[in-house]
Amino acid sequence: MSHSRRDFIKYVLAGSVTAGCPIDSTLLAAPPDAAATPLIDSEHFEVCHQVRDGHVFENPAPTQKAAIVIIGGGVAGLSAAYFLRGQDFLLLEKEDHFGGNAYQEEFEGQPFATGSAFADKGDYGDQLASKIGLKLLPVHNPDPTIVNKTFVPDTWNSGIDALPYPKEVRESFRKFREDMRKIKVRERLAELDSEPFTKYTAPYAPEIQQWWDSYGPSNWGATTQDTSAFIGIGSLQYIASGNEQRVILPGGLGCITHKLNEVLQPQYKDRLLGNATVVSIVPEKDEVRVTYYHENKLTTVAAKAVIVCVPKLIASRLISNLPAAQKAAMQHTRYAPYPVVNIIFDKPIYNRGYDTWCPRNTFTDFIVADWTVRNVPGYVQKHNILTFYTPLRENQRFTLLDENNCKTLAALVLADFQKLLPEFNANPLEVRLYRRGHPMFMGVPGQFTINRLAAAQPLDRIFFGNADSGGPESLTSESVRLSKAAAEWSAQVLAGNPNAKALAQKALASSSQ
Ligand SMILES: Cc1cc2nc3c(=O)[nH]c(=O)nc-3n(C[C@H](O)[C@H](O)[C@H](O)COP(=O)(O)OP(=O)(O)OC[C@H]3O[C@@H](n4cnc5c(N)ncnc54)[C@H](O)[C@@H]3O)c2cc1C
Repeated sequence: MSHSRRDFIKYVLAGSVTAGCPIDSTLLAAPPDAAATPLIDSEHFEVCHQVRDGHVFENPAPTQKAAIVIIGGGVAGLSAAYFLRGQDFLLLEKEDHFGGNAYQEEFEGQPFATGSAFADKGDYGDQLASKIGLKLLPVHNPDPTIVNKTFVPDTWNSGIDALPYPKEVRESFRKFREDMRKIKVRERLAELDSEPFTKYTAPYAPEIQQWWDSYGPSNWGATTQDTSAFIGIGSLQYIASGNEQRVILPGGLGCITHKLNEVLQPQYKDRLLGNATVVSIVPEKDEVRVTYYHENKLTTVAAKAVIVCVPKLIASRLISNLPAAQKAAMQHTRYAPYPVVNIIFDKPIYNRGYDTWCPRNTFTDFIVADWTVRNVPGYVQKHNILTFYTPLRENQRFTLLDENNCKTLAALVLADFQKLLPEFNANPLEVRLYRRGHPMFMGVPGQFTINRLAAAQPLDRIFFGNADSGGPESLTSESVRLSKAAAEWSAQVLAGNPNAKALAQKALASSSQ
């Protein structure tokens, strides 16, 4: 695309890449007695940077009390608040909005996803959605692929015969699918989770790995080489089963956090605090002291129980006196930097598939925002909004810090899309890019069966929620499942029941998958 044409299109960048303090460095939570002057200014990411860079905050003495403090207002934190309705909780969220990775935005009243896309029918996210009055609608569309300028519906079933590859490559796709189907993944969980998926893809045509090098980064942040074989093979078995039961509304899973906020605000407005960055968590014998930065000052709240719903990398920087092995496991958790690009057209350009895979492009796949409502009687598609998933490698994280890089990336996504099929060569009204530095933990070997268990061990008064306490991949349903358990755990802690820890450990050891 020429520069002049590119400049004509409106580009909007959103999202704070600093939200997850993206660049690793050694960070220290403040010792409780440290005497140092806080170095803070009005920007909330500045505070986060100071935590990242090891600044020692002088924690003021507690001036607030709450039975339960929830840290982080993504789907995990918001659902914990929902499960704790009627109780004395305080939720602290760093951004000025709630939702985390499941956050919807709108264009002229039409919602679209900036992150998390869909749930599975009946999973914890879907169950919560129904409870709060949302009926997620079925996708009913196996994933197509566009490759070599060819649209292939239902890639892993009938589509194999239509893949625009030589006969022997199609044969290899079929053999791979049949061989993988025979593997008993549950029985071999520990073994498969210790191996890279490439061990299983290597004997087949390289086009297979190319396909998974899109699917993996989009779904669990890792290329085939970095993917746990348990996750890769399990996913193939799921998508080739023909039993996919995905459900969603426009806005992706941001529709749930949007609605949760709407449901909670009237009664709990004062207990859901945005622009409140937690800078330190100090466990004491009878309470936990949580210090946060809000409205230009530091405040410490004393809590009886704390539910930590931020990623482990951040938790490791906030909590004092963590057991060394636990802290190491938290810091060992790997995260993919993950911008998402939304392209808004004022006319129908693509409505042929919900989630379409495009190996070897700047983006991995794209979804149609209003796919599940487009045929609802009375619905008119005013704009065709497409969401492009553009996961990056870890060593590309720093590129997100520069706005020009982000604009260039968004322009490349548009240019790649326009080249996919001749009918895509149209100019959009607007291109938006939502950047996140650390949103998705990577499904690397050992993360599910070993590392997460060490990282998310409950402390006496601290429960570790967030999607990265669950798995095998980063799932909204896991955030919700664990928050439900966290609400039960906190009731036990408040009642002084010594079994609270065992309950939290049980929730950690299980998984909805
Ligand atoms: C691009 C993308 C696509 C995805 N697609 C799907 C999908 O289709 N289906 C699915 O089930 N899952 C999907 N996921 C995964 C899903 O989004 C996550 O599992 C889920 O949203 C995580 O929610 P969470 O609340 O556990 O964590 P987060 O969303 O990470 O929330 C953490 C919150 O803590 C806040 N925070 C951080 N530091 C602090 C601090 N110091 N003080 C206060 N607050 C702080 C953050 O601002 C954030 O709001 C996707 C993820 C991404 C990134």
